[in-house]
Amino acid sequence: MKSNITGNEIDAQNGVYVKRKAHFNIAGIGLPGAGKGTTAQYLKQDYSMNSISTGDLLRWHVERETEIGKKAKTYMDAGELVPDEIIVKLYSDELLKPEFKHGHFGDGTGRTLKQYKSYEKAFGEDFYDGAIFFNLPPEVVRKRLLGRVTCNECSTPYSEKLDGVKVGDPCPARNCKGILIQRNDDRPEKIEKRISEFEKNSPEYLEHLRRKGILWEIPITADMKKFEVTAAVGEAAIEVATVKFRKMSTAPFYSTGPANSFKLNPNLQGTILGKLLENRNIDGKSS
Ligand code: AMP
Repeated sequence: MKSNITGNEIDAQNGVYVKRKAHFNIAGIGLPGAGKGTTAQYLKQDYSMNSISTGDLLRWHVERETEIGKKAKTYMDAGELVPDEIIVKLYSDELLKPEFKHGHFGDGTGRTLKQYKSYEKAFGEDFYDGAIFFNLPPEVVRKRLLGRVTCNECSTPYSEKLDGVKVGDPCPARNCKGILIQRNDDRPEKIEKRISEFEKNSPEYLEHLRRKGILWEIPITADMKKFEVTAAVGEAAIEVATVKFRKMSTAPFYSTGPANSFKLNPNLQGTILGKLLENRNIDGKSS
């Protein structure tokens, strides 16, 4: 059978293409407390999309007092960014794990232009299919972080006000035995430093991603509920998946069947990309 993939020699029909190319990587960008961690949980639950948080990787090393942990701790405690070299190495090693072979959501994985350029050099210009910018005003961040508690096991963030939990409570997540704590860097003076680090570094990499045409901006207001944020992220992720598939293939991602049913391109079944595309209606609108 003739391949219907354009611009690529690998045959779509035997699945090799999909094994290599149906991975799906999205970067999550935004001030701390913007909703990246919550989004990571949602993408995992709805699309089996695993996430990588460089903050969590660093905390793992700090707790175990590894060489990386000892170097990173000073910066983290001060609310400053950890040097690019450490981040790039940590992230690159993590990406090799089999659970990320279909792609991942990068929770705060890129925070300087230098980091983005290093990833593009190491993994290809189109390493990130999309970048989602959770755009919220710093005054909302201040309020949110002061009332934020985080699970010491699964790292899920909760709001004392919205979720009705407090420091010392057991983590409400199913099957998690963790305890809710206040993170060291969620204290007022550290929060100010983290905000200023973001304001200093983000304009140039946001501009870089905008020029590449992969930046999706989600304006977040103080009264937005968690599900409203995750729904907006879901919409954006579906759009990004559609653009990616359109670049990959001229084949329809579904074929029409009887009674308006539709069938996913078999090569995409079981992939994150396939799961996202399945969430679109036959007329191309996301459901
Ligand atoms: P987070 O848990 O994402 O808020 O990250 C906690 C801290 O880890 C940050 O304040 C930084 O000190 C450090 N960190 C996490 N990710 C990065 C990154 N991509 N680049 C530099 N520093 C980072």
